[in-house]
Amino acid sequence: MALSEELNKILKDVHWQMDVLQNIDVGLVVMNQDYKIEVWNSFMQNHSGKAPENVLGRNLFQVFPELPEQWFRHKAQAVFVLQNATFTTWEQRPYLFRFPHYRPITGTAEYMYQNSTIIPLADTKGVVDHICLIIYDVTDTAVNKLAQQQANKQLQNLSRTDHLTGLFNRGYWELRLIQEFKRFDRYEQPSSLIMLDIDHFKKINDKYGHTVGDEAIRGVSRAIKEQVRDLDIAGRYGGEEFGIILTNTNGDGACVFAERLRKTVEHLTVYADGHEVKFTISLGVAELNDQIHDHRNWIEKADHALYRSKEGGRNRCTMEL
Ligand code: GH3
Ligand code: MG
Ligand code: MG
Repeated sequence: MALSEELNKILKDVHWQMDVLQNIDVGLVVMNQDYKIEVWNSFMQNHSGKAPENVLGRNLFQVFPELPEQWFRHKAQAVFVLQNATFTTWEQRPYLFRFPHYRPITGTAEYMYQNSTIIPLADTKGVVDHICLIIYDVTDTAVNKLAQQQANKQLQNLSRTDHLTGLFNRGYWELRLIQEFKRFDRYEQPSSLIMLDIDHFKKINDKYGHTVGDEAIRGVSRAIKEQVRDLDIAGRYGGEEFGIILTNTNGDGACVFAERLRKTVEHLTVYADGHEVKFTISLGVAELNDQIHDHRNWIEKADHALYRSKEGGRNRCTMEL
């Protein structure tokens, strides 16, 4: 092969490699030991808005005064000396270059989250006299993870218990219902919901006063707590209305549970303010099935069954089919 032909081939190879480096979807910056920039690819150009002619041959920290210089020098020096790559995640430092990031859908990330790597580059004699800084755009991953962390925190912070009864409050109970609905596997374990409501509760309030009414509400809660298993999820849904999610329980099983609870309350006597009060509850049961399209629909079904118990004369349990 003639010398010029060989040279041509080498140039062509180099040209292609440069093309790849230019168009790859990560940022590439090659610098010498004085942090003079020698390679600046299109990713860096597009996101920083700085063209190669304004960057090449200049000192990194002069072009980007906002960079954490001390931190970066420390990292880079280690790469020069130890000749090992070093990696920084967005969790350690959200970004190195403050590139704006426009996300039309979520609009949550103002800046591009970045992971970065610094790798040593050796000359033909094996001396590391350059480093290559690689910038990865990890905004999607970061935004998802942060959103998930935020949701978990909200869940934890949301006060969970209803102070009158010690059962879960409505907000938290509904979150658990949503989780149970999503968890539901149509072919594995069944799941049932019971909604129940004290009968003629207004009369108790009217006749004996609210303190006695409150005591009746507590009485029902105690009966519920005594009968649920660890995996069941019981909450106060409204004034004198309760919801119980029975995991791994089908409709028939839930009816057995509901009937037992109904009887317990029927035999209960509440003592308060010098009064002895007896009352009953009505219940509605709905087993989760694939016709139920969301957790609200599940509540509607159980509520509808409860309504039928009321219509049917109260102090009874009805299953929604
Ligand atoms: P039904 O048999 O049809 O359920 O009749 P009801 O009288 O129980 O009717 P309803 O369920 O609509 O009554 C709810 C009443 O509960 C209305 C409200 O005054 C009362 N209430 C709501 N929250 C509380 C509470 O925390 N304490 C007390 N004492 N009463 C409450
Ligand atoms: Mg009622
Ligand atoms: Mg009610």
